[in-house]
Amino acid sequence: MVQKLTLQELPIKGQNVLMRVDFNVPIEGGKILDDTRLKESVKSIKTVLDKGGRPILISHLGRPKGGKDPAFSLQQIVKHLEKLLGAKVNFFDGPIEQARPLAKDGEVLLLENIRFEPGEEKPEKDPELVKKLQSIGDCYVNDAFATSHRAHTSIVPLAKAYPDKAAAGFLLQKEIEHVGGLLNNPKKPFYALIGGSKISTKLGVLRSLLGKVDALFLGGGMVYTFLLAKGFKIGCSIHEKELVAEARRLLEEANEKKIPIHLPVDLVVTDNINNPTRIETVSIDKIPDDLEGVDIGPKTVEMFGKLLNGAKSVIWNGPFGVYEHPPFDKGTLAIAKVLSEIKGEVVIGGGDSVAAVERADLGSKMAHLSTGGGATLEYLELQTLPGIEALSEVK
Ligand code: ADP
Ligand code: MG
Repeated sequence: MVQKLTLQELPIKGQNVLMRVDFNVPIEGGKILDDTRLKESVKSIKTVLDKGGRPILISHLGRPKGGKDPAFSLQQIVKHLEKLLGAKVNFFDGPIEQARPLAKDGEVLLLENIRFEPGEEKPEKDPELVKKLQSIGDCYVNDAFATSHRAHTSIVPLAKAYPDKAAAGFLLQKEIEHVGGLLNNPKKPFYALIGGSKISTKLGVLRSLLGKVDALFLGGGMVYTFLLAKGFKIGCSIHEKELVAEARRLLEEANEKKIPIHLPVDLVVTDNINNPTRIETVSIDKIPDDLEGVDIGPKTVEMFGKLLNGAKSVIWNGPFGVYEHPPFDKGTLAIAKVLSEIKGEVVIGGGDSVAAVERADLGSKMAHLSTGGGATLEYLELQTLPGIEALSEVK
């Protein structure tokens, strides 16, 4: 794998350092509901300050449609960011090209939501945007892993504007080390657990992992499309009819490659997720016509647990049931517990999977919780991301 320049190697003293961070935090009525993403960026920003650089932060917040909108203003995070950094944060919402004098030693400059600029999401709409940003910065750091699957101006063209001075921040490095490490050089046996609601959103990942893992474990809503492919009846369970043939192909391919695909052996079924009056545990060949599968059953948890014993590397993406609605979170939480006891490198990727592990209070027991959501999925599929590719190479 090509080595990318890191923040540690970047000459920073006396430089204006453009830092693409991901401050896309949930905010309601001006209140930050979860500041994880802010906290995670602290290490890189502080390092730049400590080394005598002047951080200029670039981020998006939400999905503003067409220009400025106070609901999406990054002004809302300034006070909290100051507290986390222990440094002054100056906020700038004027024309970007005028920001250079506002970057001061020992202080942080935060630019307004970059998605207020039409050229951010569509670089071809405003080729001047990258030049404006470049005019205020001397080098570039990407610490926005969760946005690095997008070829937006502040992710790809801006990095390329600094051919020898575009570096990976600490957050990005951690993701490359753990997620990239699993894909490139996993300790064996290496197992993947894939769940979630739909097979359509996971096909690329399934195909890519099939070439790497020693076994695949499937759960969640996507299982029912596989069960259809195997000729089972699935009652009212979620499925994608048009992908049954594709699921069958995957099963055949795995068979040819002699990679076991482990499906659940029992399932929890119900008449209604929100107001269940019937909840039953049935084996996969006995799903009643009028019920839908919402979780893996205890026999499956036990079987998966035994098969996962001795794993040296594990990646898990996608909950194994409708975990937002207890008691249908049982299977997912039990699998989280199983993984927390594995001695090897266990990586959790995907927004809902990470949320489920944190709900079980087991986050600290895993080697790595990937912060990427969609970016993590794309990284698992393609083994790189546009934002990582665009960074400088170490010669
Ligand atoms: P991640 O965010 O970790 O990548 P996904 O977004 O792919 O995961 O999947 C999470 C969703 O899958 C959850 O909202 C969960 O309710 C849903 N899900 C899991 N199992 C089922 C099921 N049997 N039926 C319907 N939805 C399910
Ligand atoms: Mg999700």
